[in-house]
Amino acid sequence: MDTAAYIGLGANLGDARASLKAALAELAASPGIAACQASHLYRSAPVDAQGPDFINAVARLHTCLPPLPLLDLLQDIERRHGRTRPYRNAPRTLDLDLLLYGDRDMAHERLVLPHPRMHERAFVLMPLAELAPALSLHGRPLALWLAECGEQRIERLPD
Ligand code: AMP
Repeated sequence: MDTAAYIGLGANLGDARASLKAALAELAASPGIAACQASHLYRSAPVDAQGPDFINAVARLHTCLPPLPLLDLLQDIERRHGRTRPYRNAPRTLDLDLLLYGDRDMAHERLVLPHPRMHERAFVLMPLAELAPALSLHGRPLALWLAECGEQRIERLPD
């Protein structure tokens, strides 16, 4: 279980909280995954997307899976939760993004690392900062990126 990876979770259809909690449990119990830790849950306004508010979280885990098999695992979990992709940025029952895989940079047709939009999204940065406050992205601390997302509505949900 040699690589630390961060996963962004979001949902804005159905029982979004229940979907996130179930997805976190499935992820933690998957072969090749260890030490899965989750942030609090957050509620955020849709960014470049439609529909109701999202529920979001970030998980940190350790894995022996290479990046593409880890993405396959995330997409299997999405499918089990009824995720369809009728059009870009459609409302979704569950969205799992691979945010960071160690310090790997990657530009594969199925997988871009770090996730290409994570540094401009409060719903990723805020839960990520809970788990990894000292992390930098593209050479800048998370707090500086987060300061530029001031107009994005987001709140931490009570436990
Ligand atoms: P979405 O519909 O927003 O979940 O986007 C998923 C698509 O983005 C899939 O086709 C993935 O192969 C691709 N993708 C590229 N980079 C990533 C990443 N870091 N995490 C998750 N999906 C990615």
